[in-house]
Amino acid sequence: MNDYSILEQTAGKYGAVVLKNEPMKNHTSFRIGGPCDVMIKINCEALLCELIKQCRENDIKYYVVGRGSNILVCDEGLQGVVLLIGSDFGSVRVDGEYIECNAGASLAAVCAVALENELTGLEFAYGIPGSVGGAIFMNAGAYGGEMKDVVVSCRYITEKGDIKEIPLEKMELSYRHSFFSERNLCITSVKMKLTKGEREKIKDRMDTLMERRKDKQPLEYPSAGSTFKRPEGDFAARLIEVCGLKGTACGGAEVSTKHSGFIINKDNATFDDVMGVVDIVKQKVKEQTGVTLECEVLIMK
Ligand SMILES: Cc1cc2nc3c(=O)[nH]c(=O)nc-3n(C[C@H](O)[C@H](O)[C@H](O)COP(=O)(O)OP(=O)(O)OC[C@H]3O[C@@H](n4cnc5c(N)ncnc54)[C@H](O)[C@@H]3O)c2cc1C
Repeated sequence: MNDYSILEQTAGKYGAVVLKNEPMKNHTSFRIGGPCDVMIKINCEALLCELIKQCRENDIKYYVVGRGSNILVCDEGLQGVVLLIGSDFGSVRVDGEYIECNAGASLAAVCAVALENELTGLEFAYGIPGSVGGAIFMNAGAYGGEMKDVVVSCRYITEKGDIKEIPLEKMELSYRHSFFSERNLCITSVKMKLTKGEREKIKDRMDTLMERRKDKQPLEYPSAGSTFKRPEGDFAARLIEVCGLKGTACGGAEVSTKHSGFIINKDNATFDDVMGVVDIVKQKVKEQTGVTLECEVLIMK
């Protein structure tokens, strides 16, 4: 096992919370995942810079995790340090029509601030259970909107621990993809531009979309949302349904009978249970429709 004491000292200097052998299932919406060696709850950009530099110098593997709502972590856990970018690093500031927030802010919190300030444009994101950093990483979107429509720029930390800023034009945001997707970078803050709107209309839209989610999605079970990306010209859920795969199960994991695009953790599912269902679905959909489904959920191991 690595010696993480240098990272622990640095975290201590900044007053950040350090957890050892912390089960990742406590930090993922799937409620799956074994322990990580060390988890540090990031509380400022300077801490993140120092930790990333120290990881590099000491050859320590690190994982960046936001709200854990789009990841599936293996049961063996993660060997290395998890840099958790959540509520301890989630302040939100408003300046006219601009909202700037630290990467750990939840989309729900940012939407609430937008509503409070009568700013419209982010309603689509209400109900996506991620952080702003994770939402940029994934270019999260729903109901006709995506992060691409509202983001202006981001700050991030390179693998060498340097701070950089990137404007929207260079972020390569497309369907569930960004400039960050293939790189080991860490988003620290996000600037968005919304427009002045009417409080009642903003609230109505947020409430309507949340109702739609509750109605259509199996929110009563742990999951990571849509398991598969939308294939060109079709919907994964539709293909899964026409192939008769609703309810297909492996151990405690199952294709939701409420929304076939979701694999749910119905009863203490393991990583292998979920991957078992993923494999069956991919194979059957390919055989019956010729379409190759690709996972939207990111595997962390
Ligand atoms: C019930 C449910 C409904 C959902 N509905 C939607 C939906 O409508 N639309 C949609 O797009 N998604 C949806 N999702 C998926 C998920 O909420 C989004 O992808 C969200 O943006 C992920 O954010 P996160 O903070 O949870 O990221 P995580 O799951 O923690 O991480 C996802 C990826 O982003 C990286 N990452 C996270 N934070 C940072 C950072 N600060 N810097 C660099 N990399 C980072 C991680 O390393 C990882 O690779 C849903 C999920 C659930 C459980």
